[in-house]
Amino acid sequence: MTLDTNIQFLSGVGPRRAALFLKESGISTIGDLLSYYPYRYIDRSRFYAIRETHPDLGFVQLRGRFTGMSLQGEARKKRLTLVFTDGKDNMEVVFFQGIKWIQDRIKLQTEYVLFGKVSVFNQTINMVHPEVEPPFADPIKGVASMQALYSSTEALRNNGISQKLLSRLQADAILQVEGGFCETLPDSLLTRLKLMSKIAALKNIHFPQNSQMLLEAQRRLKFEELFYIQLGLLKQKSLRLSSTEGQRLTRIGEHFNHCYHQLPFQLTNAQKRVLKEIRHDVGNGKQMNRLLQGDVGSGKTLVALLGALIAIDNGFQACMMAPTEILAQQHFASISKLTAGSPTSVGILTGSTKRSDRKKLFQSLSDGSLHLLIGTHALIEEGVQFRNLGFVVIDEQHRFGVDQRARLWSKNQTPPHILVMTATPIPRTLAMTLYGDLDVSVIDELPPGRQAIKSLHFNDSQRLRVFGFMNEQIKKGRQVYVVYPLIKESEKMDYKNLEDGYLSITRAFPSPEFFTSVVHGQQKSENKAFDMKLFIDGKTHIMVATSVIEVGVDVPNASVMVIESAERFGLSQLHQLRGRVGRGAAQSYCIFMTGHKMTKEARQRIELLCSSNDGFEIAEADLRLRGPGDLEGTQQSGLAFDLKIANLAQDGQLLELARKEVVSILDRDPLLQNNQHSLLKHRLQQLQKDAVDYSRIS
Ligand code: ADP
Ligand code: MG
Repeated sequence: MTLDTNIQFLSGVGPRRAALFLKESGISTIGDLLSYYPYRYIDRSRFYAIRETHPDLGFVQLRGRFTGMSLQGEARKKRLTLVFTDGKDNMEVVFFQGIKWIQDRIKLQTEYVLFGKVSVFNQTINMVHPEVEPPFADPIKGVASMQALYSSTEALRNNGISQKLLSRLQADAILQVEGGFCETLPDSLLTRLKLMSKIAALKNIHFPQNSQMLLEAQRRLKFEELFYIQLGLLKQKSLRLSSTEGQRLTRIGEHFNHCYHQLPFQLTNAQKRVLKEIRHDVGNGKQMNRLLQGDVGSGKTLVALLGALIAIDNGFQACMMAPTEILAQQHFASISKLTAGSPTSVGILTGSTKRSDRKKLFQSLSDGSLHLLIGTHALIEEGVQFRNLGFVVIDEQHRFGVDQRARLWSKNQTPPHILVMTATPIPRTLAMTLYGDLDVSVIDELPPGRQAIKSLHFNDSQRLRVFGFMNEQIKKGRQVYVVYPLIKESEKMDYKNLEDGYLSITRAFPSPEFFTSVVHGQQKSENKAFDMKLFIDGKTHIMVATSVIEVGVDVPNASVMVIESAERFGLSQLHQLRGRVGRGAAQSYCIFMTGHKMTKEARQRIELLCSSNDGFEIAEADLRLRGPGDLEGTQQSGLAFDLKIANLAQDGQLLELARKEVVSILDRDPLLQNNQHSLLKHRLQQLQKDAVDYSRIS
């Protein structure tokens, strides 16, 4: 057998269980099985006393005897209760299933080892459905004292695929492939970085000899995982740099100068630095692929505009794509202002652009008289033909699918330079993995004169005070957002909350003194746009909205954000929402409303937000608290994100190391053409066989 052999050929599996494995856990080959790593280990050399145990311990092991057995209940509701003693204390052990089997096999007053989780029932400790084994009978693990635990599913368990069987299959799989096993990292790397061999790592990850060996096995496997991800990404980048030429944009001319010298303020140092980075990228004959990160309001759009103007000065056209119509409109309005009186012609194309306007627009695009086109997804439609597209800006990129970006890329024969902007700061480790083949710029400085947003936490019983505060602010001429969570699973309930909230707000803030807009995803888009516009134009005082409220919407006069059920949002999302205020000169406030009872994690999140306004600090904390899979922006990113063993929140150093090694290899051999690197090349191909082809993507 080899790593590619189907697991049905392992003894104890067969076609039916193999199908189940595939469906439940995506395991089809022996190789898949071996990389189905345990999620934790338990120390089987340790026995707990009953009085030491509590539910938080998770799995524990106890040694003792059963002293009594009784059967309760009728038919399907039967329950077998045993009394277990460790010599000092007693505990109930309960079975609801497999009762007959237990009754037939368990002998009273004989020593057993129990393995399971304790729970508390009627204020006493008990154990439901533990594994019961005679002491010392441990045919699989031999002397190993650490037992691996694998994540499992109900369907697997119901089909007899127990932890025990999983362990046995792993042992069998190792035995089967050990002889012909091929190493997956070059020896030189293993020696230099003191990494254990792959086969030794697999043995120790499933059957650790001791905790030191387990750590080494984890280090080796994590390194390998991160290494090949980086190798894939960075090789892609070398390929792009070596095979595609970029337009060389070196001229600075009237388009840039006109806008730049008309700005009513100085660029911040961070903006200047990023502009320099962009100028370098577009001037060196290579195609730019850059990610620009920065908190909301840090002035990304302006930098992007200046980049686009450089392209225009060099005879090219540019476009800027926003995720929603409203955002596109806002960009169009602010950019029209910034380029007023200059020779730059700016157009807008969205889904609602009229046919006749569209025709004119297309004409001016293809004859080159339109310099900069701002728009929504409509920009990537077939009919949109540029004369000579040289610079593409994508705003709030995580809302766009990867394939959509790829289509923009292909709008020109020579690919345009691409600048992707996001206001969701991404921790460095994540950026290196998600956007590993992009260069990353960061604007980490807000324009001067911005007042930090004051963040406060109130609970539901203090609502009247919050209403009082809103009233005060509205009297001062300010506007207020009230945001309700919208979470997929409970959409109906959430809309009900929103409606109730809207009612209570209109009661507390009645017309004609006050006017309230309401915006949510279930509205017709005309109604949504109408209410939105009322608020933007200052005709309504309060905007009640779901969290779908447009990212990036800019209403400088709105200075209060009230977030309802804040405990239900993630850190980054709360920070994003908060960024809707603090855009004008007035002191802004963000009020987090929560219930009285909160989980510890929710409390931590709110506390952190009340004490920090720094998007990067918050993103790092979010990564630590939730793990990368849940971070905003990663799910829709299009990159497969199921790391099997590495953890981006914890393995930053290992990731840096892997990346450094990859860079040094590719510096010498950008496309892995040397014989010396054939192992790497081959392995990478193998890993990418099933993966989507990202090669044409920004
Ligand atoms: P972002 O796209 O990062 O959210 P914007 O580019 O929309 O930020 O800028 C937010 C606001 O700040 C805009 O009104 C913009 O004109 C203004 N702005 C940008 N750069 C500066 C600066 N250096 N000094 C003062 N105001 C600035
Ligand atoms: Mg913006």
